[in-house]
Amino acid sequence: MRDKAVVAIAKDPSVDTMVQQVFDALGGAENIIRKNATVVLKPNAGHLGKPGTSVNTSAALVGSVAKAVREAGAGKVIIAEAAAIGCDTMECLEDSGIAEAARQAGVDAILDIKADKDLITIPIRNTRSDIKSIKLPRFLLEAEHIINMPVFKSHASMVFSCALKNIKGVVQDKVHYEMHKTNLAMAMMDIWSVVKADLNIADLIWPAEGFGPHSPVPLDFGCVLASRDPVALDAVACHCVGLDMNRVSYFDNAREAGLGCAEIEDIEVRGKSIKEVYQKMWLPYLDGFDTWPEYEFHTENSCSSCQSLVAFTMEKLKALGEYDKNTDAVICLGTKDEVPDVPKERLILCGNCLKKHRGKGVAVNGCPPSEPHVAWAIVDREDQMDIGPGFRERMHAEEAPWNQFIDGIVAKKRAEKHAAPRPAGDHT
Ligand code: SF4
Repeated sequence: MRDKAVVAIAKDPSVDTMVQQVFDALGGAENIIRKNATVVLKPNAGHLGKPGTSVNTSAALVGSVAKAVREAGAGKVIIAEAAAIGCDTMECLEDSGIAEAARQAGVDAILDIKADKDLITIPIRNTRSDIKSIKLPRFLLEAEHIINMPVFKSHASMVFSCALKNIKGVVQDKVHYEMHKTNLAMAMMDIWSVVKADLNIADLIWPAEGFGPHSPVPLDFGCVLASRDPVALDAVACHCVGLDMNRVSYFDNAREAGLGCAEIEDIEVRGKSIKEVYQKMWLPYLDGFDTWPEYEFHTENSCSSCQSLVAFTMEKLKALGEYDKNTDAVICLGTKDEVPDVPKERLILCGNCLKKHRGKGVAVNGCPPSEPHVAWAIVDREDQMDIGPGFRERMHAEEAPWNQFIDGIVAKKRAEKHAAPRPAGDHT
């Protein structure tokens, strides 16, 4: 019989205590970390975001894990990250407080993977995306341990981001860009086939709900999860926050790639139970297309990435004052033999699944397309094939109305929460 995947859950006001507890639940840091080993900690520090914003992994958690692995006998401790395209890794590490926490923990190096010149090309065997090989820094490939340290957050084009998705941040911009042009979920699995983090420690201390990743709303959840199995960790995290993992398609990709265990009955949870820490998070991207009755959608055979992206798009249209102006649009996602017979400028074809119908409508390239492109296709009624000139400027110009819109939704949510009657028997 195959051993069960193990996921440790800790909940405690002290981050150091949680780190100690998850290591102990998995067999003890000294039994996981080899003596004098080089250990790379890979946090999520992909965007600018101060501590407390939940944009990036908790700096306190990264510092605490760095200390724990050092005490367990690590010879060299390195923090490494490749921030999102267009973002400066070192600025993100500084802004998030991770660099300072790492310095205080006495790490040996804080490295920007995007700036690394000593790269080794690794072929990807049995590639599931179009990525045939990737260049990875030598230090990452030669490290004895890689500890993947995501923060759990709501994500516009992946529904949520945690252990599986965080590994995307070990590649430089060129590969990162290629990943977005091919099937992103499959490309993530391909990266995992060559960069096997041997431990995943996830920040659910202040995970991000709402319209992440760019407008995260931190939630006081107070937990750390850890596992050697990234799929099992993500599955347990979904159960802890009330997200139906059966609706998140990339678990199927992970199963197909044989990357880990997604079956909750085959996972042993140690430390706190899922029930003890359960708290439903506000994760609005799969609320359903009835949320926008003014629009016509054709969503059969689509996966959760495009569904999530289109949900984000509808809210973005509202934020930009474009929602009421574009209700003639007929939005298609997912593989189809036929598409609705409407004038070309009314038909929005989201994603590479609809490649064969290009020419019959306004096409949006990508799998899933990049975040703003579906909204721009609807507003401009022009194909969106690539990240072209003016992409960043337009994104930037749309930030203020988007943030204002989201602030309004969040304020309303908070007011509703306070106004909600307490359940009977709740004396807390
Ligand atoms: S194009 Fe969209 S629906 Fe099709 S596989 Fe890609 S993300 Fe999923």
